[in-house]
Parts: sequence; C-alpha cells; structure tokens
Amino acid sequence: MLDKLNLGKLILVLCVFSVVVTLFNAFYSIYRVQHDLIINNTLESNRVYAEKMAEMTDAFIDSAMSQLKYSAQSLSTEMQDTKFLSKEVDRLKNQTDSFNSAFIVNADGVIVSISPETIEVKGIRLTSDRALQSLRSQEPLVTNPFVSPAGNYLISISYPIFAANGDYLGYVAGSIYLEQKNILTTLLGKHSYKDGSYLYVVDRGHTLIYHPDKRRVGQVIVNNKAINTVLEGEKGSQTMLNSQGFEMLAGYAPVALAGWGIVAQRPKELTLSTLDQQMWNVVLETLPIALLTLLIIWISAFFISKPLWQLASAVRNFDSHSAAMDDLTQIKPWYFEASHLKRTFLNALGIVSNTIDQLQNDTLTDPMTGLLNRRGLEKAVDRLCGQHTPFAVLALDVDYFKRVNDTFGHDVGDELLKSVAQIIKKQARDNDVVCRAGGEEFIAFLTKTDVNQAFNAAERIRKTIENYPFDAVGQVTISIGVSYWDSAGEPINAILKNADDALYQAKHNGRNRTEIKASSAREDTPPPLGAKGLPLR
Ligand code: GH3
Ligand code: MG
Ligand code: MG
Repeated sequence: MLDKLNLGKLILVLCVFSVVVTLFNAFYSIYRVQHDLIINNTLESNRVYAEKMAEMTDAFIDSAMSQLKYSAQSLSTEMQDTKFLSKEVDRLKNQTDSFNSAFIVNADGVIVSISPETIEVKGIRLTSDRALQSLRSQEPLVTNPFVSPAGNYLISISYPIFAANGDYLGYVAGSIYLEQKNILTTLLGKHSYKDGSYLYVVDRGHTLIYHPDKRRVGQVIVNNKAINTVLEGEKGSQTMLNSQGFEMLAGYAPVALAGWGIVAQRPKELTLSTLDQQMWNVVLETLPIALLTLLIIWISAFFISKPLWQLASAVRNFDSHSAAMDDLTQIKPWYFEASHLKRTFLNALGIVSNTIDQLQNDTLTDPMTGLLNRRGLEKAVDRLCGQHTPFAVLALDVDYFKRVNDTFGHDVGDELLKSVAQIIKKQARDNDVVCRAGGEEFIAFLTKTDVNQAFNAAERIRKTIENYPFDAVGQVTISIGVSYWDSAGEPINAILKNADDALYQAKHNGRNRTEIKASSAREDTPPPLGAKGLPLR
C-alpha cells in the first residue's frame, strides 16, 4: 500500500481534489445566483405586467361608466319613448366595442330595451337574485357574474337612471359575456403565452371572469394566496402553489373600480428550465481551462516529486553504496530541499563508504605488522590466480623464535616480528604481496618471477635479516621455502604446500637457508644453487 503511494500521486490527488471542489463550489454558486435572479426577475416582470393590465382595465371601466352615465342622464326624461330607448341601446352597443350587449331595465325590473335585438328578452322581468343586483343598489355598479334570462353568463356595468325629482326610474347597463369574445379578451388576450406565463382575472367573489382556458371561466377559486391577497386590494408578487398544486411565480394587482384582481403568473419549473442549459454552457466554457489546469498540475506534480523520488530510489538499495552513490550523482535536483538532501545523502554515503572500506581493510590486515593477514592472503591469492600471471611463493619462518621470547620477553619478540615484517616488505616490489601467515611465519608472492629469480630474492631477504642488528636481540636468522606457480599448472594450494615443504626442509637442513620445491611439471628445470641453498633432488 505505502509502496504505491508516492509524493507525486499525493500532490496530484490533493490538487485535483482542490480543483474539483473549487469548480463545484463555483458551479453551485453560479447556479444559486442565477436561480434567484431568474425567479426574482420573473416575479417582478409579472407584478409589473399585472399592474399594467389592472390600470388598463380600470381605465376601461372608468370610460364605460362615463358612457353609461351620459346615457342615464339622457334617459331620465325619455323613459317612456320606446324609440329613443331603442336608439340609445343601439348607440351604446355599437359606438364602441365595450359591451356584448346594452340594455335598459325599468324600476320594476323589466327589460324595456336591448341591443342587439336578436336577443329576445325584451319585456321579461328579471327575477334572479344576481340579476337584480343593480336594481337593488340603485348605484353605479359592476355586478358579480350571473346568468342572463337569455342564458348568457355575464357581468354587467350599470348606471342608475333618476328622474329630475329624484325618483328611481331603473338603470342602463352594458354587459360583458364572459364565455364569448369580449372586451376583456380583447384587452388582456394580447399577452404572449409562449413562455408558459398567463394571466387571469377574478371578481370580488373569487370567481374567474377571465382565463385563457375558457373552460375555467366561472370557477370559484379558494385557497389561492395570490387571489386572496389581490382581492384585499394589495399588489405585489410571490411564489405560491396554484389551485392545481403547481408552484407558480405570480404577480398581481387589483382593479380598484371593479373590485377585481388580475394575476399574471408563470410556472416555476418552466421558468427554471432555461437554467439547466445555462449551467451546461458554463460547464462547457469552464472545461478547457479546467483541463489545462489539471494538465499543468499533473506535469508540475511530476517535476516536483521527481528529484525526491529519484533520491528515494537511489538510497533504497543502500547495500551497494557505490551504486547508490553513482545514482545520486546522476540526479539533478532543481530546488532547495532536494538539492540539500542529495548533498546530505552523498556526504553520508561517503562517510559510510570510507568506514566500510576501513573496516574491510582492517579485517584483511594484521594489526601488529601492517601486513595482510590470513584472510587478506586468501583474497590476494584469488586475485593473483585470476590475473593468470605466473608467480613464485616464499614461505619464511624466524629460526628459534621461541628462544627470543623466552630470553627477552614477548614484547621484544613482537618488536622483532615488526622489524622482520618491515625488512621483507622493503625487499619486495610494489606488485608483490606479503602476508603474516601466523606467529613468526610469513608468506610472500613474487609476481612475474621465475624460480631462479625467486631463489635470489629469498636469499637477499635471508641475508639482510641475518646481517640486521635487531634491538636487544642482536642477530636473528630465518629459513625460507620457495615454490612456483605458472598459471597452467597445479592448484594453488599444492604450491603453498610445496613452499611449506621446502621451508620444513630448510629447517631440517640446519636453518638460515633457502630450499626450493617446484611443482612436478617443473621438475626438469635445473634447480638454482644459492649460498647455502641446495636443490632438493
Ligand atoms: P623453529 O626454528 O623450529 O621455527 O623454532 P621456533 O622456536 O621459532 O618455533 P616454534 O614454533 O617452536 O615457536 C614459535 C614461537 O613463536 C611460539 C610462540 O610463542 C611464538 N609466537 C607466536 N606468535 C607470536 C607473537 O605474535 N609474538 C610473540 N612475541 N611471539 C609469538
Ligand atoms: Mg620459527
Ligand atoms: Mg614457526
């Protein structure tokens, strides 16, 4: 799990997360702001529209009343003149488009004249409660809707007729047929319904007197907040549920002269339907930059994490510190932390490397003489064999060393061993390998040296030691065994054994001398003769 997580991925995940959260936050804010804006705008435009329509309707009723008032005044002296009555209703009906019909009712409630004449209700007495509203009030009146004797569902605008002496003579009225084309449909029907908005009118009794859906005219609407508010004479706007249970954005205004209310409304769902498209456009507009940002983040995350990742990979296999060091050197950090880490790792690796080298060296070296020890000898032999170059082997041993210890003490013995080691080392060439094989015994490998040369070298060493004035001890001698390895011959162990055998022989032959034991393959080589050295054969 932890191996799969790395700095690059973490940076990437963090950045992508913040970009996504920021984007969603922005989208949501835009959505909220647009949502509220659309709703408020619609409410406001519906309120303004309803107000304008209410003013227009008020103006119409005012002008209709003026017309009827004029007629009522003319009629006050002419109620008996049937012709005049007939002319007057025709004029009222035809002069303007205000009314579907015009009629005059006398004080007994009998229709005395009506236009158009096609309506055969002349002479009929009004009886229903609603039809008698104007008669009873004896005042200018916009009636509630009622069904006329001819069967029309209508409202009428009436004006009372009084004689000069103040006697009530009846009224003159114009009617608006609610279920047919009328002045309201002409005035209010121009509204464009394409965006789902519509307008309706209720009278003071909550009855729909105008609605674009004709079937709903005459319905009494209760529990509609907009209607309740507007019939209290208030104008304004609000979001509310209509009688069908749909959420509506309604603006409303009262028609003061008639006591009506006009409501302009639009379904909320329909109003907000454009918002989805708008939001989609916002997303599409934002997308290219968002994708570019993500790409930049991805590339940045890669470049930021790269040096640290390389550093981590380089030091992962600390076992091979030289490989780790090579890897580290290759890395090119481009910012402070990474470059500091690189330097620190390199320093630490350098120290570790030196320490390890030192430790390795220590394990291969004899601390007293500074020569290679047994393990160092084995490594040196391996290396020499690997080079496939012939070499000679000298096995050297101090004669009667035990006596030195016994006579002068162990410390003097040690000092003598150090001096002997130095002399042998000094006599050897740079490429030769000198080891302390243990105790007072040494082994030297002389590279590119044949048996004769090796014998001469051994003799040189032997003589130098023989003539060297050792502190406290004075004269000391050594015995030397020589053998030879030619790279194609016997295994190296056999050669070492030969050297040992030769040394044994030297001891046996009286010490302070050099003996040779060459391998069997070389036994035809004539053995050299040294000062005291004799061939073994
Ligand atoms: P030979 O001529 O046959 O070689 O006789 P030797 O006395 O030299 O040989 P031997 O093997 O009998 O004795 C070697 C002595 O070297 C025995 C041991 O105490 C001594 N010795 C071995 N290592 C050290 C050392 O590191 N320091 C000292 N001072 N003495 C050592
Ligand atoms: Mg000895
Ligand atoms: Mg010995």
